Amino acid sequence: MTRRTIPSTDKVLKALGLPELPRALVVTEVRRELELVRRSLSGEPAGRSQAGGEVDPDPDFDAVVARVRSRLENLCRSRLQPVINATGVIIHTNLGRAPLGPAVAAALDAVAQQYSNLEFDLNTGNRGSRGLYVEHCLAQLCGAGAATVVNNCAAALVLMLRHFTQGDRKEVVISRGELVQIGGGFRIPDILETSGAILREVGTTNRTDADDYARALSPQTALILKVHRSNFFMGGFVESPGTADIAAVARRRRVPFIEDLGSGAVIRTGDLGLADPEPTPAGILKQGVDLVCFSGDKLLGGPQAGIIAGRTRFVGALKRDPFFRALRCDKLILAALQTTVESCLEATSSKEPGPLAWALIRTPVGELRRRAEQLRAALAESPLESRISRATARIGGGTLPRTGIESITLDLKPSALPVVGLAAQLRDGNPPVIGHLAGGWLRLDLRTVLPEQDEKLAAAVRSAVPPHRPPCFTGTVNLGTTDERG
Ligand SMILES: *Cc1c(COP(=O)(O)O)cnc(C)c1O
Repeated sequence: MTRRTIPSTDKVLKALGLPELPRALVVTEVRRELELVRRSLSGEPAGRSQAGGEVDPDPDFDAVVARVRSRLENLCRSRLQPVINATGVIIHTNLGRAPLGPAVAAALDAVAQQYSNLEFDLNTGNRGSRGLYVEHCLAQLCGAGAATVVNNCAAALVLMLRHFTQGDRKEVVISRGELVQIGGGFRIPDILETSGAILREVGTTNRTDADDYARALSPQTALILKVHRSNFFMGGFVESPGTADIAAVARRRRVPFIEDLGSGAVIRTGDLGLADPEPTPAGILKQGVDLVCFSGDKLLGGPQAGIIAGRTRFVGALKRDPFFRALRCDKLILAALQTTVESCLEATSSKEPGPLAWALIRTPVGELRRRAEQLRAALAESPLESRISRATARIGGGTLPRTGIESITLDLKPSALPVVGLAAQLRDGNPPVIGHLAGGWLRLDLRTVLPEQDEKLAAAVRSAVPPHRPPCFTGTVNLGTTDERG
């Protein structure tokens, strides 16, 4: 190819076929590639590749098309899309945390397609208040005077910290043992600082008692904060005072006391079949905490949201804070949360299963084994070795890090390509399937695979290991990593 024979954008577009992306994006990629070729043929520096090095693009027409196609495929894979979660991590932060299920999807569909009474009071015909009904349900679920909702639990924390430190009192008293990092980029000390609060640490990393809190209180104290350690736990010589003891100190000294519960188990974890206890918002509020906050998309099993529940006077003041407006939820979130919270309420008073995430946690292991056997039979003709193993699934999302859930994996070892190649092929499938590698097997944990996905899973594996595949998988494979800490 010479400068004169650089192909037209149209010619490359034709050769590409019809990628499933907006044409404007495709055209931009083609033009960018042709510009690189033009520069390299005229001896100009070709510019920087994405990796940062100088590139001299191969000007061959097929190579041009192949490079554009590869970039478009990468772009396409970055579109938000459904995946099959075969990791066994139920609240997988990288995979969208709680799956919402059909009842919530139907509610979303209805509210998305039409107008709604988001801020319109159908009783009076006047302007209404956003989220009134879901707040009512949440207050009941948490045994609280009142409740409200913001974008996520981090936002709930920032709102409360800003609100209670906006006057002269700036100090937030917190145990040194709770100055933790919860998941990606969420550090309690940083959140405090951005909120304009002054950190007042008490106790030591492993031991804090109620007197430590009492001694730290001063006329500068804005509030006492207790934070669930989530994905972090300590053993050995450890002591922290119970919520009730701190609440007694807070009450005596008239200081607001807030507890960040993180995952928000609104039913007893024992009722989900989990061995380790997790404080419920209702239980914590009963011990004298003024306000609690927790996530909507962890153990509650709903959409991303931050729930604040507790004393009516405080919740009302938070809702009147001008900053609340910047954190308010969209109608789709409120619709999804409303359906989730209704199903939580149903589950607490009947045999209803509750949100989909609860059903996944409670699926009997025998049921998982039966499905694994079915899947294995469906793959009998495929060129791979398979076996069924016992496994330990996890809650994830920083919730109950020590708690394992008995589970079953379907393990695969393809005959004609390395197991990492199979993992890559499955990740590249439609829908993508995400499992994990262990001991030379690709393990697919059925605890997090929805039963209605079984057929698609089998089809994905079948097309990932076609019999005619070359005997050796070549090329570099980006196995990727996931980080489900929170
Ligand atoms: C997960 C978690 C958060 C953050 O919740 P988001 O809803 O993701 O913002 C805050 N605090 C604790 C203790 C958590 O576990």
